[in-house]
Amino acid sequence: MNQIKSKLPEVGTTIFSKMSALANQHKAINLSQGFPGFKVEETLISLVSKYLEEGKNQYAPMPGILELRVTLSNYLGKTYHCELNPESEITVTAGATQAIYNTISAVINEGDEVILFSPAYDCYAPAIEVHGGIPVFIPLKHPDYSINWKSVKEQINSKTKMIMINSPHNPTGSLLSKEDLEQLKEVTKGTDILIISDEVYEHITFDGEKHESVLSYPELKKRSMVVYSFGKSLHVTGWKLGFCVGPDWLMNEFRKIHQFTVFSCNSPMQYAINEYILNHNPFANTSEFYERKRDLFLASIKDSRFKIIPCKGTYFQLLNYSEITDMNDVEFAEKLTIEHGIASIPISVFYPDLEDNKVLRFCFAKEDDLLIKAGKLLCTI
Ligand code: PMP
Ligand code: GLN
Repeated sequence: MNQIKSKLPEVGTTIFSKMSALANQHKAINLSQGFPGFKVEETLISLVSKYLEEGKNQYAPMPGILELRVTLSNYLGKTYHCELNPESEITVTAGATQAIYNTISAVINEGDEVILFSPAYDCYAPAIEVHGGIPVFIPLKHPDYSINWKSVKEQINSKTKMIMINSPHNPTGSLLSKEDLEQLKEVTKGTDILIISDEVYEHITFDGEKHESVLSYPELKKRSMVVYSFGKSLHVTGWKLGFCVGPDWLMNEFRKIHQFTVFSCNSPMQYAINEYILNHNPFANTSEFYERKRDLFLASIKDSRFKIIPCKGTYFQLLNYSEITDMNDVEFAEKLTIEHGIASIPISVFYPDLEDNKVLRFCFAKEDDLLIKAGKLLCTI
């Protein structure tokens, strides 16, 4: 009676849940799961209260409140030099995770192949597999984590339905360049291949580098679902709100499924976010804000035995520990948490074959004093 055929027999609990639980259990500094450790802007909180009290407490329209979609289309249009129809090309979602799952659900049929790059964010492959699709992993080149476009060309065949890209990249902090997007344009030219572009860290790039969006490339935009997260852009991961952008024919199929999975998303927060973006320019200094934190963290570990792998975007810093031990990264991450009081994420879990380059990911979206304390601990190892 209590037996079902698992759709994801190989999948367990995510590494983010595991490492956060271990950190809590051992009262370790939690630089594992990626979430901001500082207070949310008062103005944004007051706006949510205002709309709760005003009575915006019933269902939002299925694709999201139009005011917010108009604001987003204006914002994206200006930033990425594109035109978007807020009525038919933008949908507000329950975070980027739902946008990704929903797109895959709308597009992938039994036997379809999806190209993705490892290390890959953990929600991609299971969503493909649940729908009978086949994830085709191409490893990013360690240690700069760039894409080998020759391999991509070699993997494309008549079953290739979609390519998933992610820049700024979680977990590595690498960025796709103009040249990469030109290559993507080249390999998809003359095909029906669709793209999911996960751009949740669009506002977090460092050292003068700018985020390259597929929205700036008309040939890519017309075949892409582009995914964003207010959790990341407004430092409110617990709100689980985001949005996606795609051509109307694809968005139409997306919404057919969206309406039966969540129907619509949290309504007072959509009003609050709309007013906040319109009047408070919240994305202007996000890169500077996190670049300072990255540099503070790096300065605090400069005397440690960890080797820094450059981080160009996101709020994650990779550190190589091969001078310290040859333990595998999962065991070493657990040891650091339990014995040294600092939790991180092992990178091998994002590879299909658990490739272990002795690299751990540390989230620096934390208060300065915690980053300094974490750095001091890492220097003792
Ligand atoms: N994609 C990437 C690359 C992420 O790091 C995350 C986690 N924030 C998500 C998607 C999911 O975002 P959300 O929390 O909005 O579902
Ligand atoms: N995106 C977050 C990270 O990379 C985790 C989100 C989650 O726990 N699912 O750490």
